[in-house]
Amino acid sequence: MTATQRIKTPRNTSRHPCLMAVLRMAGLRPTQQRIALAKLLFSSGPRHASAEQLHLEAKTAGMKVSLATVYNALPQFRSAGLLREISIDATRSYFDTDTSNHHHFFVEGEERVIDIPSNLIDVVGLPDPPKGMEISHVDIVVRVRPEKQKNQT
Ligand SMILES: [Zn+2]
Repeated sequence: MTATQRIKTPRNTSRHPCLMAVLRMAGLRPTQQRIALAKLLFSSGPRHASAEQLHLEAKTAGMKVSLATVYNALPQFRSAGLLREISIDATRSYFDTDTSNHHHFFVEGEERVIDIPSNLIDVVGLPDPPKGMEISHVDIVVRVRPEKQKNQT
């Protein structure tokens, strides 16, 4: 066996050793598609994305990733603790790369989520959790829309 053969690694995955390590540490096998999605999600700082937005970004970047794959991968990333899910309603969810406790504005009509630092909202009067349970976290979604222009009638 030559030295080249011994250090041979899959060509497309070797470019992102950090993402591979992150996926492995989270208990996920670093497949090419997971690495590609992780790169889109985690390479540019904290962000929020829906499955559909991420799929569009992947397509635009020339990745061959189906929407079904994105739908499967995002909950896996969430379960592994890499993402937090923000549910807007029964049909819309966003995935947040910042998994710390914080809240969100949801901009109606723009399908956009903006962070609200957790220290800006005081949550008081929470009921005791049901017996045998504990509160894991409280996340608040404040729905906003562009102000109506005051000169218009
Ligand atoms: Zn957030």
